[in-house]
Amino acid sequence: QDRRILLDDTAIRRALTRIAHEILERNKGVDDCVLIGIRTRGVYLAERIARRIREIEGVPIPAAAIDVTSYRDDVSRQSRGNPAQGIVEPELDIHNKKIILFDDVLFTGRTVRAAMDALMDKGRPQMIQLAVLVDRGHRELPIRPDYVGKNIPTSKLEEIVVHLEEADGQDEVILYNK
Ligand code: 5GP
Ligand code: MG
Repeated sequence: QDRRILLDDTAIRRALTRIAHEILERNKGVDDCVLIGIRTRGVYLAERIARRIREIEGVPIPAAAIDVTSYRDDVSRQSRGNPAQGIVEPELDIHNKKIILFDDVLFTGRTVRAAMDALMDKGRPQMIQLAVLVDRGHRELPIRPDYVGKNIPTSKLEEIVVHLEEADGQDEVILYNK
């Protein structure tokens, strides 16, 4: 089994700092922006970027978490939750907001589609942008990220393992060849 470290803690820190600057530049600040992380590791990324933006710009920016398991199109309808129930935590008004969605790895795009569905059920955002730490390719939907930590073309047999300090005790992105 092949194991290769693609990003270490320093590389992850630099990528997130760059993304924070890109968000500020593209949106000319962060007025009306909210960061929403897809559970689990997308939430830590959203919270880190919120802190970074506060450091750089001196303004607070809301960060929240979204759970989209009940919206996945590959989860059977019977096991889906009630879409009206609190999916975003903490609850926040997304009407007319610029939402920046965060996930650790972008693959087929189905999770992001599910997150967009869940958000649209809650209101009408002005815009939705997408930030991911790793884009590993193999999209099955017309979805592309606006902000990318690293593009890592993978084979379907490979797996990306993302470790983040908050959940795993250290920051690293590893490529496994099964
Ligand atoms: P998608 O829905 O785009 O097929 O897959 C993206 C979701 O599955 C993300 O929430 C991500 O956490 C997870 N995922 C898909 N492929 C990988 C992978 O290779 N490594 C990790 N760590 N997560 C993955
Ligand atoms: Mg995930």
